[in-house]
Amino acid sequence: MYKARAYSAASAKSPLASSTIPRRDAGQHDVQIEILFCGICHSDLHQARDEWHNFMPTVYPCVPGHEIVGRVAKVGAAVKKFKAGDLAAVGCLVDSDRTCPNCQAGEEQFCANMTLTYNSPDSHTGAVTYGGYSDSIVVDERFVLRVPSNLNLAGAAPLLCAGITTYSPMRHWGVTKGKKVGVVGVGGLGHMGVKIAHALGAHVVAFTTSAGKKEDALRLGADEVVVSRNAGEMEKHAGSFNFILDCVSAEHDINAYLNLLGRDGNLTLVGAPEKPLPVAAFNLIFGRRSLSGSPIGGLAETQEMLDFCGKHNITADVEVIPIQQINEAYERLLKADVKYRFSIDMASLKSG
Ligand SMILES: [Zn+2]
Ligand SMILES: [Zn+2]
Repeated sequence: MYKARAYSAASAKSPLASSTIPRRDAGQHDVQIEILFCGICHSDLHQARDEWHNFMPTVYPCVPGHEIVGRVAKVGAAVKKFKAGDLAAVGCLVDSDRTCPNCQAGEEQFCANMTLTYNSPDSHTGAVTYGGYSDSIVVDERFVLRVPSNLNLAGAAPLLCAGITTYSPMRHWGVTKGKKVGVVGVGGLGHMGVKIAHALGAHVVAFTTSAGKKEDALRLGADEVVVSRNAGEMEKHAGSFNFILDCVSAEHDINAYLNLLGRDGNLTLVGAPEKPLPVAAFNLIFGRRSLSGSPIGGLAETQEMLDFCGKHNITADVEVIPIQQINEAYERLLKADVKYRFSIDMASLKSG
């Protein structure tokens, strides 16, 4: 074991602060990564503050962060994919049982025995896993991803959660050239959704509640922008979409969007409103529409997404912050006061 520097929460009520954590020494199959950037995901805040207490209670100290990009510092003797000096990334998963039907299918995100990047029992240390708000991390090479060298690294970090969360359902539901795709909410997830749908060749319609985001949505790659409060604008698109990605985690009326789907259209939720959403059955029955949800993606698909983003030069729009501003960033995240994702410059950790 060795000591890594990190920022951790000591309790649900305490701000994140500088600390040291134990990391395992790189074993045979492990890659030790010097972390350069880590994106801030809303999950980090939920977990640090134990807001998912009922189904995923937080073990303290908690080191969040699952949008990790860095450089390989060292590798175990059996590692084949990486060597020291390579760019590397780690997303939401650092292990799984590798044997269940989901793992066999390359859909590790559905493995009942997966190890999340933070706050999961860690079989190596006996404690819980510690995430990317740290100067280094050690991960089995199967769960380490390659980063295309043309990508801006600060902007690439959020691809590991926000990027794959939007890419995976679009691939699953067949978003390609000629399809009409809606993206609801232009924020951390939604702005990635717009970029990726555009790069997949779809006709992209962004839905936003704020007219002020219209210009930005067009810049991100939307072909049209609809201000969702305007019923007339919504009505014009009735029955016309192949796919809608709903990125909103606040309470909202999904029936208004189900109505916009065409025959066999699908609406996928990637935002997670706290309260159950009412669904009018006829909005699904007419048109044989479907409603689904989707979490991140498997390892192979995450690599495919990174390569796709490399080819199309897609990164998240980020505001880079030093780790010392993490608590302030959390407060701003709650107000959606960021365009569109924070990325922590981990070099700042050296100054305490
Ligand atoms: Zn996340
Ligand atoms: Zn499994």
